[in-house]
Amino acid sequence: MKAAYLKQPYMYELRDVPIREPGDDEVLIKVRACGFCGHDNILASYAAKEWEPFGHEFSGTVEKKGARVHHLKEGDSVVVETSTFDPLAPCSLNGRPDLDDSGPSFMNMKDPSMGFAEYAVVPAVLCIKFEGMSFEEAALMEPLGVAYDLVMTADIRINEDVLVLGLGPIGLMALKMAKSSGARRIYAAEFSKNKKRCELAYEYGADEIIFTDKVALPDYPFEKGGVDKVLVTAPPQTIGEACEVCSMGGTVAFLGISYGEGARVSFDSNTVHLRKLQIRGSNAIPALYFPKCVEMVKSGLADVSRLITHRFTLDELPAALESYRKDSSGAVKAVMVSELHA
Ligand SMILES: [Zn+2]
Repeated sequence: MKAAYLKQPYMYELRDVPIREPGDDEVLIKVRACGFCGHDNILASYAAKEWEPFGHEFSGTVEKKGARVHHLKEGDSVVVETSTFDPLAPCSLNGRPDLDDSGPSFMNMKDPSMGFAEYAVVPAVLCIKFEGMSFEEAALMEPLGVAYDLVMTADIRINEDVLVLGLGPIGLMALKMAKSSGARRIYAAEFSKNKKRCELAYEYGADEIIFTDKVALPDYPFEKGGVDKVLVTAPPQTIGEACEVCSMGGTVAFLGISYGEGARVSFDSNTVHLRKLQIRGSNAIPALYFPKCVEMVKSGLADVSRLITHRFTLDELPAALESYRKDSSGAVKAVMVSELHA
């Protein structure tokens, strides 16, 4: 079968790799849709020094199951969690499964293929059955769960002013949820060239967009002088500025992985101290909230299909990801689908 590989800087290729038999607790999934994640882009831009398979936001149908798998049957539509918690881990038994990162993980499988492939073998416990939405929508449950975790971490309350820093797919999904959570005023910050992202931010409920290539964030005339909550999905270097625009008692919630020196950031400790700020980390390991995310899509609280600006098949992947990268004004989310309709 075919599987996609990447290597920095921005090289993609398709390879022929064997399909592995699923083990007793695993299933073989026919991939129907797979999203291209910001993390895949970090790998492609500088982090992947050697060729590696990629893709972790995917959905599909169960093709074959192992002997000990009883909660799934062939033909079921499923979306795959990147990892889950071990229910027997001490922190899970103490009521905090969200803190357990020792459970089964798709990211650690070391198979010669991942989500950008025709098939994938995954631990059955990572498969969440769904119905009533498309495979491409289902593929976005992983980043939607990440956005939901960020919003929960920030603990947005009614009538608070919120700034969303970075309008990638996760920032946009979090923005819409911040609106539903009762935010009074939502500011969004992004580079002015990313037109489609800014357009969607307004549609999802942003009141004002700050172009950070034109105005320094701390100079922006926020209606109340600052904001109560900042959701940071931009590179970590922006955490310092996020602190500067927080009002008394504000919270900066942050997610995003960086490699090397990019992970070291600075902020003014006096600002954090005197304004009694909190900086909180959000991380979707283990993956959580998939069933809730499926519900939110069905009820319209989340609107993930609007984010998909680029669709392509596996065969088209190398060229499609190159044109997605070059389309800064129009690009939001790229999703591989098994067949392109229309
Ligand atoms: Zn992702």
